Amino acid sequence: MLTFNTMGFSPNLLKGIKELGFQNPTPIQEKIIPLVFETENDIVGLAQTGTGKTAAFGLPIIEQIDINNKSVQALILAPTRELCIQISKDLQNYSKHIKGIHVVPVYGGAPIEVQIRALKRGAQIITATPGRMLDLIKRKAANITNIKTVVLDEADEMLNMGFRDELDGILEKSPESKRTLLFSATMPREVARIANNYMNNPVEITVGKQNAGAENIRHIYYLVHARDRFIALKRIADINPDIYGLVFCRTRMETKDVADKLIKNGYNADALHGDLSQAQRDHVMKRFREKSLQMLVATDVAARGIDVHDISHVINYNLPEENEIYTHRSGRTGRAGKSGISIAIVNHREKNKIPQIEKLINKKFEKLPVPSGAEICNKQLYKLIDKMENVEVDEAQISPFMDTVNNKLEWLSKEQIVKRFVSLEFNRFLDYYKNAPDLNKKAEEKKDKRDKRDSGGRGDRGDRKRRRGGDENFTRFFINIGKKDGVIPKNIIGMINDNTNDRDINIGTIDLLESFSFFEVEEKHTSKILKSLKNIDYKGRAVRVDIAEKREDHRRKIKKGKRRMR
Ligand code: ADP
Ligand code: MG
Repeated sequence: MLTFNTMGFSPNLLKGIKELGFQNPTPIQEKIIPLVFETENDIVGLAQTGTGKTAAFGLPIIEQIDINNKSVQALILAPTRELCIQISKDLQNYSKHIKGIHVVPVYGGAPIEVQIRALKRGAQIITATPGRMLDLIKRKAANITNIKTVVLDEADEMLNMGFRDELDGILEKSPESKRTLLFSATMPREVARIANNYMNNPVEITVGKQNAGAENIRHIYYLVHARDRFIALKRIADINPDIYGLVFCRTRMETKDVADKLIKNGYNADALHGDLSQAQRDHVMKRFREKSLQMLVATDVAARGIDVHDISHVINYNLPEENEIYTHRSGRTGRAGKSGISIAIVNHREKNKIPQIEKLINKKFEKLPVPSGAEICNKQLYKLIDKMENVEVDEAQISPFMDTVNNKLEWLSKEQIVKRFVSLEFNRFLDYYKNAPDLNKKAEEKKDKRDKRDSGGRGDRGDRKRRRGGDENFTRFFINIGKKDGVIPKNIIGMINDNTNDRDINIGTIDLLESFSFFEVEEKHTSKILKSLKNIDYKGRAVRVDIAEKREDHRRKIKKGKRRMR
């Protein structure tokens, strides 16, 4: 077995390696390091993350730096600023005991002037993200015409992130004579193209099982009317309660619109687009990384810098103009050996793009029906119950309260308690999905003309259509408070629940007007309602409730109060 001692490193470099606690080279280091020292070949290294690639290229590069030469001798390109900083730190650690080696990281999203000054002070090794590097070259702040080595680290990720043009631009400016080392977990077509165009008969080194990349991504599409896009998105989110997703939109406007609507509907979501300042962007990204956000809605350009590795779902709110972009989008999930799902919400007009994309990704889409309200309720309910079963009970903390709790609940049977508990969390889903339409049937129905003028924005209707008034089994009540009093449907539902002390009462349509409102309740509870809503007040105002006339035609004109969910 090879050891670091016999690989040809100078004593000061060996000292740095030892101090890091590296005993023996990892398999990829065993193969790459001698190849760099003993040959002039370009190298393609295919290996999973965590195999020790940084030292595999970093150690021999440091060994080969001419300390007396202050010009840039090696350029290492990496997809994200975090990686770029990490690599430069690693290289600084390896070379801790070598005087006169300068490693400088440069990356987007930080003031360029500071980086220009750092480069001026001298850098033999630059670690960089492609966009910023090209910018610095164009400004003549970095000169790579004398470099000996270029490393493309995580080349597949750089291409996934849309850095193709930047890589082309940088590589074109580098000298013919340089050596190129390319590292990648996978070898998709785009990476092969770079290898073909810019590398000289590269030696290919594969360590371990090649990360099958695209293999672990499922591609799914849902066919809906364009105006049902948002409802479909909600259902996709609701059927995947643990979603940690990236939603792609085409424009800033649409990005904002979709994010706003998600937030209004109670999801932990936010938008990432070109109108944000760097600080705002960082803030959004921080929340996404911490998983305070479950869904991030982004434009393709803004999503470039996203370096999150465990995204569970990529959702194409609509298909991109260019099919190529789909591959960049879907490549954001299923990383580092994990599985991922790439979903496209597709309308009739976009449908013909699916076979084209299938050709491009060399994989078939599964066409799935948009989940029904019942399926979603089942899933959410299961999740809720599961959560309850697994919740950690802190006996010491909770026990002082248990007497009070037990006393208060004494009059309820276990079955009733369970029912109430479930209702508490779950009513909003039941309520929202009560009369949810079958979006698939709607989509299959004769193509709607409205489709044409829709760009995917609006369309909450339909889904919210509640049971219409005038139902035989319901009594319609008048109540003397309305929007003017700040009433929303929830308040009326709460008022009924609290005062009747009965949560099994079925409440129908609630119509909010300016200074009064109507609500419907199952007929069998009529007298209970009249009795229990007597002598109560709402924000200091005496509440009066009466049976109202059923007048279907009148009711139609009344603007419905919207009930929010989640
Ligand atoms: P990759 O780039 O392949 O994902 P890294 O170069 O980031 O992997 O290395 C992964 C981890 O392994 C790092 O924490 C690094 O310090 C450590 N490591 C690398 N080489 C060795 C070695 N020879 N012995 C022990 N640990 C190592
Ligand atoms: Mg690495």
